[in-house]
Amino acid sequence: MKDIKLAGLSGERKRTVIKIGNARVGDGLTIVGGPCAVESEEQTMQVARAVKAIGVDLLRGGAFKPRTSPYAFQGLGLKGLKILAKARDETGLPIVTEVIDTRDVSWVCEYADVLQIGTRNMQNFSLLKEVGKADKPVLLKRGMYATIEEWLYCAEYILNEGNPNVILCERGIRTHETATRNTLDLSAVPAVKEKTHLPIVVDPSHATGKRSLIEPMSLASVAAGADGLMIDVHCNPEQALCDKEQALVPTDFERIVKKVRSLRKTMEAL
Ligand code: PEP
Ligand code: MN
Repeated sequence: MKDIKLAGLSGERKRTVIKIGNARVGDGLTIVGGPCAVESEEQTMQVARAVKAIGVDLLRGGAFKPRTSPYAFQGLGLKGLKILAKARDETGLPIVTEVIDTRDVSWVCEYADVLQIGTRNMQNFSLLKEVGKADKPVLLKRGMYATIEEWLYCAEYILNEGNPNVILCERGIRTHETATRNTLDLSAVPAVKEKTHLPIVVDPSHATGKRSLIEPMSLASVAAGADGLMIDVHCNPEQALCDKEQALVPTDFERIVKKVRSLRKTMEAL
């Protein structure tokens, strides 16, 4: 991987730390929590208040949902972004939200604090170049069929346009296994850290697709050295319009946050 000129680890290059509001991604353990999708103002504000009280660093929520079926809920678009802005105003939490179209990048930046590139768009090179020109950090999810090398070249596309603030996000890859939604590739965490100075977080919600597996895989991610976790939270998972099988209620999420923070502290003391 010789031509990973900007994303690569070389000589004196320090690990990247990205400041987003009060959060510092790449320095300690960053927790991102929130609904998969913004469904309504009430639903989003309810989750936002809950995750704020639990002490997350960033709020997630999709206003543009890249769904497998064209008939599934596609997100609220601009209306969803306005709801997220309201949640940020009230809680002070910076917002992570997905952008799926090059034409939307500039105006989504007016609402987002972090631009998420989803697994299905990891190699959408025009979109990567566009977010590379933006003045907001980018959370780049691993493509579900991507090798680590392909993923890092995608980060390189963004850096090469002048945006130095890329957070990698491991969210599971497609394998023959059907017991889980995807196969969480935890070896990617230390493997990526051997190759790049960029921070890496894990999304155990989309990786497993199963509520019961999120706690063990969150702990395992922290043990593997992840810089953070991004987890789906919903106050009423049964009613969720998107990914309800993996959404955690705030009480379960709170227990996991406490455990991962405690594990991280223990590891730092080792
Ligand atoms: C998401 O985080 O809401 C999402 C759609 O994730 P992924 O792109 O990893 O499927
Ligand atoms: Mn989802």
